Amino acid sequence: MPEGFPVPDISAAPLIGVLALQGDVREHVRALSGSGARAIPVRRPEELESVDGLVIPGGESTTLWRLAVSFDMLDPMRKMLSAGLPAFGSCAGMIMLADRLVDGAAGQQTFGGIDMTVRRNAFGRQVDSFESDIRLNGIAGPALRAVFIRAPWVEQAGADVEILGTDARADRIVAVRQGPLLATSFHPELTPDTRIHELFVDIVKGNT
Ligand code: GLN
Repeated sequence: MPEGFPVPDISAAPLIGVLALQGDVREHVRALSGSGARAIPVRRPEELESVDGLVIPGGESTTLWRLAVSFDMLDPMRKMLSAGLPAFGSCAGMIMLADRLVDGAAGQQTFGGIDMTVRRNAFGRQVDSFESDIRLNGIAGPALRAVFIRAPWVEQAGADVEILGTDARADRIVAVRQGPLLATSFHPELTPDTRIHELFVDIVKGNT
């Protein structure tokens, strides 16, 4: 770099990857870009090495799992997560971060990382998609509008898992955090409210 050239302050805008195998990648890239991060799609193991954090989008967890196997991403993802890479999973992404899965497809595997049991399609099928207002620990201000689409819920959470919120309908756990790992049953990327992405950016920066 030429002398006198300003050195960019990377801590001010961390680089966050969005796992781009399947799902609503573009929506997460947009939400992260509006939350003080630089965001890029990631689909290969080498690309994982360059990011400060990773988002696993909503979509379909059985497809994410199958594509992760074909793209040789299952083991690299597991290694990076156990090495402490911060990650945020929404909906299918929450499923992928669960150590244990109920009602998965035959042989379905996850990346794991959060000591929780997640029930897939827990609220019912597509007809049971719904929106509701929800309050989360650690998110200040008015209630969030949460969009649930064939959503999972957390059936059981280990002692190290912080429960951030439950839904008003079934009183089930729908948002959790364990260290640098964050997961929601719903899709904050589908609403203009970026508070959850901002929380994740703060986690990536080590601010919280
Ligand atoms: N039911 C889906 C699954 O099993 C998740 C739905 C979603 O991400 N909107 O992956």
